Amino acid sequence: MTTLDAPEGLASPVGAARIAELTRLVRSTTGTSRTARSPITGEGFAEIPQSDPDDVEEAFRIARRTQTSWAQTSLRERKRALLRLHDLLLERQDELMDIVQLETGKSRFDAFGEVLHLALTARYYGRRLHRQLRPSHPSGVFPGLTSIELRRVPKGVVGIISPWNYPLTVALCDGLPALAAGNTVVHKPDAQTPLSALAAVELLREAGFPADAWQVVLGDGPVVGGAIVQRADYICFTGSTATGRLVAQGAAERLVGCSLELGGKNAMIVLPGADLGKAAAGALAACFSTAGQLCVSVERLYVPAEAYDAFSDELLARVRTMSLGVGFDWDPDMGSLVSQQQLDAVSRHVDDAVAHGATVLAGGVPRPDLGPWFYEPTVLEDVPPTAQLYAGETFGPVVSLYPYRDVDEAVELANAGEYGLNASVWGPVREAKAVAARIKAGTVNINEGYAGTFASVDAPMGGMRQSGLGRRQGDEGIWRYTESQSVAVQRLLPITGPASMARERYAGLVTTSLKILRRTPRA
Ligand code: NAD
Repeated sequence: MTTLDAPEGLASPVGAARIAELTRLVRSTTGTSRTARSPITGEGFAEIPQSDPDDVEEAFRIARRTQTSWAQTSLRERKRALLRLHDLLLERQDELMDIVQLETGKSRFDAFGEVLHLALTARYYGRRLHRQLRPSHPSGVFPGLTSIELRRVPKGVVGIISPWNYPLTVALCDGLPALAAGNTVVHKPDAQTPLSALAAVELLREAGFPADAWQVVLGDGPVVGGAIVQRADYICFTGSTATGRLVAQGAAERLVGCSLELGGKNAMIVLPGADLGKAAAGALAACFSTAGQLCVSVERLYVPAEAYDAFSDELLARVRTMSLGVGFDWDPDMGSLVSQQQLDAVSRHVDDAVAHGATVLAGGVPRPDLGPWFYEPTVLEDVPPTAQLYAGETFGPVVSLYPYRDVDEAVELANAGEYGLNASVWGPVREAKAVAARIKAGTVNINEGYAGTFASVDAPMGGMRQSGLGRRQGDEGIWRYTESQSVAVQRLLPITGPASMARERYAGLVTTSLKILRRTPRA
């Protein structure tokens, strides 16, 4: 592996004055703060104000007041704000990437992926919201007599709770359709990565969304996140399956809706006939983007037994030439893990697998010479089912290789376990599509790792089984924030028939009408 020089000290391109400007956007009256530490050096670089349940209460009060007027704005005005946001994201990308890298330690190219995804989302909902939100006209019971208008009514104030791994785009991409549909938002970003979210929220205001439409609170997950769950009209949660279950319980208690984007143990299947070099290059991006701290990244690789050695050689040759490092330039292929906690979790998983008999083909060690929480891209084989990482999500730069006998066995192995977020299949498209139809995952990428579905924001994305409930992106991504309201207009005759007509006669008339309608193909 090529290791790039570690920076001596933290020469942060984001100055103290700028950080102070951003933290003023947090709703906080507690007078308490938390030290933000950068994975680039492990040093503290800012004090971030923290919120408590009273701040959450105030955030909801303001968001509710703002929602009433925001819901009255025209779709054209919302479209303008979304498209302006798209332009601002691209114009300000350098600072946004600096902030994301400062907080997460990910490579610049991975940080660029966040800007890109968010810009795509803003453009998509900007262009589509008219079609998605304008009233539609389903059939009335008797053509000509009953007409229906189906309206999409905003839910109110949406609570968003987001994690640290994609702190820019996952902070905002779910909230943009919520705003577009006429809701306002109270948001708790993860404690590790508040500035990325705040920088994006600042852009929302500049783009033309009302200043109070997006409230940010920060603090302890169960306390501040819990206070959001107790107040929101709808909750959008992204994070671990364990926390997602708690959020779902809170939502069930209050009978409000929620969408949950949770964990995964995503499989990639290399089919017989696949180009092994292309598949190995694809695996590199699928396994090690954002150092594997990506909900849709691949942690299990299934390869035909007869191609196992050749594929393994292709993969290892590429892993060995990856450039590793932290810093604000574009050179490193892979950056750091986000925190000591994450480094401990990844090390524990790999050490446990080795203790159970797994073989390390590449990596398997931390790299404190590069950064305090750096871990090498790691490839394992012979991982037994008793190892924790066999079925449990590692959420780090670790992938296990497994040979399979035939495609049926590959599908069975890929579908094993409790998750169902993403899968990747490499090989001839016709065969790969047939395999995709048998995979229990919300997204399947053919001849790609995850980016095909992730970046195609017109396509819904989310998990089956323990990987979540509901979908982000596409029509489903915006309709989840609306209640459908059916308005029926009755003309000429009441549905129960004219008052002057005997019931039996009317029943006969309705029966005849139903028989005619049954024969009318479009009724
Ligand atoms: P986490 O569940 O610990 O935390 C996520 C968020 O929930 C944080 O903001 C946290 O402060 C908050 N939180 C914690 N406890 C809470 C509670 N009791 N009530 C309300 N909020 C609470 O997850 P994490 O470890 O920070 O993130 C990594 C996990 O997120 C991984 O499992 C990963 O797969 C998943 N993830 C999924 C997606 C997706 O789209 N499916 C995207 C990114 C991350």
